[in-house]
Amino acid sequence: MSFRALNLSPQVLLAVRDAGYTEPTPIQIAAIPHILAGHDVIGIAQTGTGKTAAFVLPILTRLAASMQSGQRRGTRALVVAPTRELVVQIEENVRAYAKHLPLRMATVFGGVSERPQLEALRSGVDLVVATPGRLIDLMGQRAANFSGIEFLVLDEADRMLDMGFLPPIRQIVKALPQKRQTLMFSASLSREIEKLTHEFQRSPKMVEIGRRANPADTVTQFAYEVRAHLKPALLLHLLGDPQFDTVLVFARTKHGADRIARRLESSGIKTGTIHSNRSQSQRLRALKDFKSGAVRVLVATDIAARGIDVDGISHVVNYDFPMHSEDYVHRIGRTGRAHAIGDAISFITPEDHGPLRSLERFIGRGIVRKRAEGFDYNAAAPPRDERGRGERRQSPPKMEPKSPGNSARGSGDAAQRNSGRRPRGFSSTRRSWGRSR
Ligand code: AMP
Repeated sequence: MSFRALNLSPQVLLAVRDAGYTEPTPIQIAAIPHILAGHDVIGIAQTGTGKTAAFVLPILTRLAASMQSGQRRGTRALVVAPTRELVVQIEENVRAYAKHLPLRMATVFGGVSERPQLEALRSGVDLVVATPGRLIDLMGQRAANFSGIEFLVLDEADRMLDMGFLPPIRQIVKALPQKRQTLMFSASLSREIEKLTHEFQRSPKMVEIGRRANPADTVTQFAYEVRAHLKPALLLHLLGDPQFDTVLVFARTKHGADRIARRLESSGIKTGTIHSNRSQSQRLRALKDFKSGAVRVLVATDIAARGIDVDGISHVVNYDFPMHSEDYVHRIGRTGRAHAIGDAISFITPEDHGPLRSLERFIGRGIVRKRAEGFDYNAAAPPRDERGRGERRQSPPKMEPKSPGNSARGSGDAAQRNSGRRPRGFSSTRRSWGRSR
């Protein structure tokens, strides 16, 4: 099927061609006609399936006519997403798809000054992309006039529920006209999401891509069984392969993420980190460096990594196996995006066997176990005082908070500055690798 057959406006078609897309993805084929026909839509699709374009392209098509006739009618489309990274990415997508249209848009998210966002909202933009918390703050200051909203998009609705955003979303929806089109996207269809559709949508058309919660088919998945103390060395061993070119590493905790990054850096591997203790500018910088190839490895926690959209991630490494199967699906959705091929690798310690079995049931298939060639699986654990600082043994991890992570307080950098010594117990594998590009 071609984009032309989807009845998108000529300016939108031109932008799609400029983006280099040759054909619509399944979610686009399924969702765009419903949205253009004015229906509410519930889209069950993971990031990486092209779902952003699936809602942005038809919204722009519907807004195009009046934008061009110069009839400005205030804000007409509101997209709500869980994290600032996702907001920035949606903004980048909208700007690319609207490049031939006189669209005015604003983004709203925490961790940065309110003033420019207030001014942008007051100036009356066509489209707003926002995280719920900051949007509520600005709405409280009467900055936004949403009485003319025609489109509401709730992106990654499942994640917003997990993050406790239901109350602010309810408040936001209350301020919108009853007569509007509501588009909701979620990685999986849970009972909570079904409840949400009843609350916010009218006779929605359901569009479901692939099996529920099924990781992208283009991702090859492997599990490496390894004892906990060998995880740092195994990561370095794998990074010795130049095919590990653009690697996203997931850690369970912020401090764990900082620790991994320090170890890689001390071994000469350019590494960025992204988690909720990092300031907005640090997070954007890390993402930019990763996208440009200035850093080869990005270490992230689940919340901060939500929706990261970087083309050509070669590998996702679950350094710490995720506690929830949904997180696994989201993590590995970072690679293999929109038809690309990528590998997802999970380190499995003895305590991860239970969660791994649950995951295999969840995704309906087994994950191939693999052994790293040439890796010394029998290396002894370093003496206790030589283990990397705080290497987790018995004590439960301090989890990344279930929050949008808008606070920039208590930067992980401080921990890094104060740690003083380079982690030991790691030097035997110390070597450096250049980027392969
Ligand atoms: P998303 O699921 O919205 O996060 O999109 C994932 C990636 O797919 C983004 O990098 C998009 O630029 C890209 N993309 C979206 N639609 C298409 C398409 N029809 N063909 C190729 N790539 C696409």
